[in-house]
Amino acid sequence: MFEASRAKALNKLDNFVENNLGEYSRLRNFDFGPEKRSNVSCLSPYITHGIINEKEVIQKSLNKFSFSKNEKFIQEVLWRTYWKGWLELRPNVWTDYLLELNKTKNEFQNNQDYLSAIEGRTNISCFNEWVKELKDNNYLHNHTRMWFASIWIFTLELPWQLGAEFFMQHLYDGDAASNTLGWRWVAGVQTQGKHYLASEWNIKKFTNNRFQNIKLNENAPPKVSEKSYQIIKQDFNNPPNIEDKNLLIFENNLSFEITDFKDNNFKKIYLVSNSNENRSIKLSEKLVKFKSLLIEDQEQRLKNKSSDCQIININEITNIENCCGLYPTVGENLDFINSKNLKIDFLYRNFDQLAWQYCNKGFFNFKNYIPKIVSTFN
Ligand SMILES: Cc1cc2nc3c(=O)[nH]c(=O)nc-3n(C[C@H](O)[C@H](O)[C@H](O)COP(=O)(O)OP(=O)(O)OC[C@H]3O[C@@H](n4cnc5c(N)ncnc54)[C@H](O)[C@@H]3O)c2cc1C
Repeated sequence: MFEASRAKALNKLDNFVENNLGEYSRLRNFDFGPEKRSNVSCLSPYITHGIINEKEVIQKSLNKFSFSKNEKFIQEVLWRTYWKGWLELRPNVWTDYLLELNKTKNEFQNNQDYLSAIEGRTNISCFNEWVKELKDNNYLHNHTRMWFASIWIFTLELPWQLGAEFFMQHLYDGDAASNTLGWRWVAGVQTQGKHYLASEWNIKKFTNNRFQNIKLNENAPPKVSEKSYQIIKQDFNNPPNIEDKNLLIFENNLSFEITDFKDNNFKKIYLVSNSNENRSIKLSEKLVKFKSLLIEDQEQRLKNKSSDCQIININEITNIENCCGLYPTVGENLDFINSKNLKIDFLYRNFDQLAWQYCNKGFFNFKNYIPKIVSTFN
């Protein structure tokens, strides 16, 4: 489903905009099955890795339809931006998640219900199919992610932290912000007291009756968390002088040619790959491979333009002097940099600098600023 190249990503985007975008808001909630995904874009594995970016996607959609016809699609694309910004302002949510995950993993390593869930051997057949689909295709439809997480938490009664880890291990679009906050939202700890309960009728309706006899706990109360998170004020300012420095690019920005810094002169570009030994969440082999193919694709495109570039392991960045880096965002790469106390001048995208200032409250507040954000694209 997902070929690891920018050329393929652009084809997918063009094809979706041309043929399916018009029906997106009417059909997007349906999961018609893994072979019938044309009602959604399936662009998330590429957007997450910066192979294509939000601005590019939104601009192409606006070349086809007006803002009002496209509003739902643009909102969905910017949900991702909102979650990113929300987490940037409260990075402790990620660090606390990893601490809780570590503790829970020890408690559940031999738990039979947990092992049955990740092997797709529960007595809920739709859930078992989704486990298989997640491992085979490394993607799940958004509605299915909501049902999956809800069944995991409220019917199978497993900790959300383990479910979020399971997604991160397999999803090609696995992202610290969208994933952690998506699971917190379903559990009812993101918007305190509001959880998402999957129900039999809803699954039947939006899967076109592909599943029958789904016995779920449809009355569970939301999970409760004692913790609340204040905004930690962050500066997202770019350093004054970046010319002739070395540039580090992490796995979230793998299309240098569409970044704000494409016209700057860098001495050399280092494409940084991160192996499982440095990750708190160990990724599946297929996901590791997908990431390395995307990095190689970027290397090839840079070499075609005669840029001096090299792929390095994240352990090697300690040896690179006089460098700056495209900001890797809250997640495993930033954790590595912080754990080694490395002082790297980060370069932030203009788009994030603008959008993240509106992520201090809920998405309904953020939505008010969408026209303003989009108006800066021209
Ligand atoms: C529990 C849970 C975990 C999730 N984990 C991730 C994750 O790790 N990475 C990830 O990218 N998304 C995640 N999502 C959000 C969403 O499910 C996916 O982005 C979407 O399904 C991707 O498919 P698509 O590209 O076909 O989406 P489309 O419907 O075509 O949407 C276009 C783009 O908008 C963005 N988008 C759409 N819906 C959402 C959303 N609800 N939240 C954030 N961004 C959205 C994505 O970048 C997507 O590619 C999660 C949602 C839930 C409920």
